[in-house]
Amino acid sequence: MLQPAVIDGLAFVRAAGVLKGRLGIESLPRLARSGCSGSVLDFVLTGGNNERDKPELRLAVDGSVRLQCQRCLGAMDFPLRFEAQLELAASEDEIAAADDGIERIVAARDMDVAVLVEDEIILALPMVPKHEQCSAAEGSDGGAKPSAFQALAALKN
Ligand SMILES: [Zn+2]
Repeated sequence: MLQPAVIDGLAFVRAAGVLKGRLGIESLPRLARSGCSGSVLDFVLTGGNNERDKPELRLAVDGSVRLQCQRCLGAMDFPLRFEAQLELAASEDEIAAADDGIERIVAARDMDVAVLVEDEIILALPMVPKHEQCSAAEGSDGGAKPSAFQALAALKN
């Protein structure tokens, strides 16, 4: 695993920087806390100017994360592949004042790449992860089992 780096945002853009890396769950503490138990995510971060001729970071992420299905509570590998464009802004005020739907982050001299990538991953994940189809053992009749036990418990009382 490549150790996450810190970049100077504007210098990275001026140099047309390219940074490639791979992030495991140990580099993604907020994901780990949210119940994600594993990940292998390759990313490519590039710097350049966008269509509006403003500096931006482009991020491409490809890999998968292991989440917990909220229906059967089993593990599910969620494939993740997306690209994001982040215009570099001078300040939080500039971001707050903009209302054009362009995603922005504040340019800094010490931008933590892992944090930046994790922010985008969190945005890309489903709010409530679920298998499309839970496996037969835990899935199709899994919903009925608890209520059957509850019914039994009610009879015993
Ligand atoms: Zn499931």
